Amino acid sequence: MRTSSVILVLVVLIGLVAGGIYYFRDTDGPVVSLAPEAGPVSSSKPLLLMVEDRDSGLRRVTVRLNQNGRDRVLLQQDFGPGQRQLQQQIELKGLKLKNAPFTLVVEATDSAIYHFGQGNTSQRDFAFAYDSKPPRISLLSRSHNLNQGGSGLVVYQVNEEVEQTGVLVGERFFPAFEQEDGRYLCLFSAPWNADSKGMNFRVIATDLAGNTRKSGFYHHLNSRRRNHTNISISDAFLQAKMPDFQDRFPDEQNLVDVFLKVNRELRQANRARLKEIAGKTASEPLWEGAFLRPKGSNREPFATDRSYRYKGRRIDRQTHLGVDIASVAQGPVVAANSGRVVLAEDFGIYGQCVIIDHGLGLMSLYGHLSSFEVQEGDEVRKGQEIARTGATGLAGGDHLHFGLLIDGLPVNPVEWWDASWVRNNIDSKLRLRVD
Ligand SMILES: [Zn+2]
Repeated sequence: MRTSSVILVLVVLIGLVAGGIYYFRDTDGPVVSLAPEAGPVSSSKPLLLMVEDRDSGLRRVTVRLNQNGRDRVLLQQDFGPGQRQLQQQIELKGLKLKNAPFTLVVEATDSAIYHFGQGNTSQRDFAFAYDSKPPRISLLSRSHNLNQGGSGLVVYQVNEEVEQTGVLVGERFFPAFEQEDGRYLCLFSAPWNADSKGMNFRVIATDLAGNTRKSGFYHHLNSRRRNHTNISISDAFLQAKMPDFQDRFPDEQNLVDVFLKVNRELRQANRARLKEIAGKTASEPLWEGAFLRPKGSNREPFATDRSYRYKGRRIDRQTHLGVDIASVAQGPVVAANSGRVVLAEDFGIYGQCVIIDHGLGLMSLYGHLSSFEVQEGDEVRKGQEIARTGATGLAGGDHLHFGLLIDGLPVNPVEWWDASWVRNNIDSKLRLRVD
């Protein structure tokens, strides 16, 4: 063979290989995904379609919906060169779907030259159940007597599986907890700081398809009288306490400014953390009966508005959301009820602090301790000694700051110390069963 023929054959071969590589370069169809991709859906929740072809780009996407043998096209879109991705909401609103299963069929073709120029086509079928009916809520607890800043318990049932349920008080949501027998228990509060007029109470339930039911319940609300007190901030107090906090606020030179940062920002941060800690609660009651009131004298009622005065001038206002109890220095502190320790550490304004979870979002907090004998995860019994009082954190002298929380929101502990209140408002409802 002559050299020129050899070159010609080589060129043809290279051409064939290159053409083959080009032809077989993209033999995969576009990647199709849908969120959610199965399960119950409603018109309140659009589906999110994602189609992607990284190699050659998209040519055409078709979405068809089939219910009871009826087929309709929801989307048909052609693409110009270079479009590799489609992100599209598929609305079910206005389609007049029946409460029954349906299928979404997504067909996507890329612009590859494979299949003699037809490109690669992917098809995915997604099976759903259309559900437009909100859940039905059946209340088992009848009367709900509430004091502002206090607690309440609602017991109810829901006729289907739910994504979220609980009590809504104004904008504040309190989660309910499903029990083994299917009942839902929800501890909630008439928040200490909410306006008692127009405070709305609703049981709310959202099913897996996104349908929401809100239903009211009978209640009686006693608004609270606001208490007020003055607290003098002395130089001796600032010099004794502020060095503990100064490294948190290194920009503040003046001790009064450090105090204001602690009293405002650190207090806020600590309250936000209480809401996070609420997520660690047990889904069943761990407590039993009334809570033990710590021994000693009560210095002021729950949710007292405090004016902080320095050299006669008011420098700050805050609401004190616990009860301060003073007895002997380094006196014993016992668990007010049974539960599990969810925090035992230095905790901002509360100093050395222990928080016990009693289940259903109910927690007790013990602040300003000089020492504690428990650690996170420990189970404790009602009356068990857990700590000693002290003056750590933002405390002027040795005392116990006792707090009760529902879903991280401080509530008035006085009710929970009262055996007859607990019997009438909590225990009698916990026993409610379906008849
Ligand atoms: Zn206190």
